[in-house]
Amino acid sequence: MTKKRILITGAAGFIGSHLSDRFLAENYQVIAMDNLLTGNLDNIEHLFKEKDFEYYHHDVTKFIHVPGKLDYILHFASPASPIDYLQMPIQTLKVGAHGTHNCLGLAKEKGARILVASTSEVYGDPLVHPQTEEYWGNVNPVGPRGVYDEAKRFLEAITMAYHNYHNVDTRIIRIFNTYGPRMRVNDGRVLPAFFSQAIRGEGLTVFGDGSQTRSFCYVDDLVEGIYRLLLSEYHLPVNMGNPQEITVLEFAQEILDLVQNPKACIDYRPLPVDDPKQRRPDITKARALLGWEPRYDRAQGLQLTYEYFKKVVHV
Ligand code: UDP
Repeated sequence: MTKKRILITGAAGFIGSHLSDRFLAENYQVIAMDNLLTGNLDNIEHLFKEKDFEYYHHDVTKFIHVPGKLDYILHFASPASPIDYLQMPIQTLKVGAHGTHNCLGLAKEKGARILVASTSEVYGDPLVHPQTEEYWGNVNPVGPRGVYDEAKRFLEAITMAYHNYHNVDTRIIRIFNTYGPRMRVNDGRVLPAFFSQAIRGEGLTVFGDGSQTRSFCYVDDLVEGIYRLLLSEYHLPVNMGNPQEITVLEFAQEILDLVQNPKACIDYRPLPVDDPKQRRPDITKARALLGWEPRYDRAQGLQLTYEYFKKVVHV
C-alpha cells in the first residue's frame, strides 16, 4: 500500500515539529515546510535522516509548489506569540491571509484534505466563559492583537468558503494555550518567560496583578487531538485545549515551586493592551466527536517541559 503524503506548514515551529514526529511515527511521508521566521531547524534536525521526511524552505505567502500527490495538508505556519505578532504584524496578516489562500488552492489542486490552525484568539477578550465554538468573540480589530486575531478569523472564513464553494475537504481547529518542549525560550509567552526567569534566578514578570486566567494544554495532548480531527468527518471549528484554568499569578507560583531557585521572585509589570482577562475552552464538542480529552495534568506537563528548559536556558 502506498503511504499517505502530508504537507505540514510551519513544521520547524513548536507545534509543527511535534506534528512532523507524530505523522512519521504513523508511517506517513512528511513534507515539512517553513521559512524559519519564527521556526528553528533544531526542532526537526533529528528527522532529516528519515527516508520519509523532506524539508522545503519556503514562505507560504508565495505560490506553493509541491510535486507529486498530496493526501493531507496541515497549515500551521504563523507567528503565534503576542511579542512575535507585535514585531511582525504584516507577516502575521499575510500568512493568515495569503498563506492560507495558497494552502487551500494547493488542497483544491491536489484533492487533499486540509486542516488549518486557528486559535482561541478568535474569541478576543471573551464575554462568554468558558468559550464554546458558537461564541462569535469580542475582538478589537485595530488593537495590537488585531493582526493575529483578524488574520485567523479570515483564515476560518476563507477555509469555509473553499469548503462551501469549491467542495474542498477542510478541518478547522481552534487551539488554546499549548506548551511543551521546543517552545522558543525568548518567544515572550508566559511559560518560556517564567521558566527562563526562574532558572536564571530573576523576577518572574507577572503582567498586571496576575488575576487574568489561562488554561494550558500539554503539546502531546494537542497533537493527539489534531490527529483525530484530521481523520474525522467534521468541518466546522473545534476547540482544543485543556479546561484546567489557572491565574497567571498562580501559574508563576507553580513554576517557582518547581524550579526552587531561591533568587527567583515575582516582578509585577504593566498589563499589555487588550490582554484577554480569562480564557478556558469548552471542549464538549471535541469530547463528543472525537472521544478526545487531555491526558496530562499540569504537574506532569510542567515537569516534562522543565526538563527541556533546563537544557536550553543558559544561566
Ligand atoms: N504574561 C505575563 N508575563 C509574561 C508573559 C505573559 O504575565 O512574561 C501574561 C500575559 O499578560 C497573559 C498571559 O500571561 O495574560 C498569557 O500570555 P501569553 O503571551 O503566553 O499568551 P496569550 O495567552 O496572551 O496569547
